[in-house]
Amino acid sequence: NFRCRSAFKLLEIDDKFRLLQPGYAVVDCGAAPGAWSQVAVQRVNSAVTDPELPRGMVVGIDLLNIPPLDGAHFLSSCDVTDPATHAKLLELLPHGKAHVILSDMAPNASGFREMDHERLITMCLSLMDLAEKILQPQGSLLCKYWDGILAHKLQETLSSVFSSVRTLKPDSSRKDSAERYFLARMYRRPIK
Ligand code: SAM
Repeated sequence: NFRCRSAFKLLEIDDKFRLLQPGYAVVDCGAAPGAWSQVAVQRVNSAVTDPELPRGMVVGIDLLNIPPLDGAHFLSSCDVTDPATHAKLLELLPHGKAHVILSDMAPNASGFREMDHERLITMCLSLMDLAEKILQPQGSLLCKYWDGILAHKLQETLSSVFSSVRTLKPDSSRKDSAERYFLARMYRRPIK
């Protein structure tokens, strides 16, 4: 039982691209109420449901409260864009590194499509600072955005540090919504 239907989008993407492997450390940005984290916990084996496989780690972050979940470590009432949150992540993650950053973050929708689009793109761009601090070389980033005029700017920024960037529209995402995902793989920025 998933906490939210959004789980099916991540399941669909992960079934196709195998982002989440047993043993991986995953950071889930905008994690409340926790459905993506539920999927990540299963796939990286962070609750050790299979003792034969390596144990992964899932850290979820949200401005809101995230109800506890076995196998996940949650940073509730935390802003993903805040350097203080980055510092907490560096402490929590094994060697301060994550294999995958997930972001299903979204601002509270104003109803003005263009404004919401711009705000979400700005949030996605801020993930680049986080990636620079915690993402492993060859790591991956999956982020939700709302399509619009600035999408190419985000795509270009991602392409400057990831060798592979593609746009995804899962079948489980409503056809009439502007919701899209960028899947950026093979991070190549050297970690300082
Ligand atoms: N993926 C989640 C799931 O499957 O349960 C649903 C995420 S919901 C669509 C978007 C979340 O992003 C909201 O809970 C919101 O509070 C969070 N959010 C928005 N801005 C944020 C920020 N700057 N830092 C952390 N979380 C943020």
